[in-house]
Amino acid sequence: MTFWDDVAKTANDAANYTVKKANEITTLAKLRYKLHIAETKLECTYEGIGRLYYSAVMDGDDTMEAISDLMTDITEINAEITGLKEQIAELKNKQICPKCGAFIPESSFYCNNCGTKIDG
Ligand SMILES: [Zn+2]
Repeated sequence: MTFWDDVAKTANDAANYTVKKANEITTLAKLRYKLHIAETKLECTYEGIGRLYYSAVMDGDDTMEAISDLMTDITEINAEITGLKEQIAELKNKQICPKCGAFIPESSFYCNNCGTKIDG
């Protein structure tokens, strides 16, 4: 390998690492955004149930089926929120290999992707 090939390879590795790291940060940001949306949806759904219940009691409207549908939605949204929180926790408990940019467990002393020794 010539000197310039080496320089090109190093630059390429650094670029790949930066892209990978950026992708992983983006993934975390996307998950947080999705969580925020799901939590907002949950609040709106609870509010919707409240309005439907109010009109059932105050105006005698038959809203039980609509309420029941929204309750099913709440169960689904809660499951989605739990899943998103688990994914976020999983990403946060990992460190990023300084050489290859892989997500590896916090307690690792060596990267399980490229074998680089991890300091501290
Ligand atoms: Zn690595």
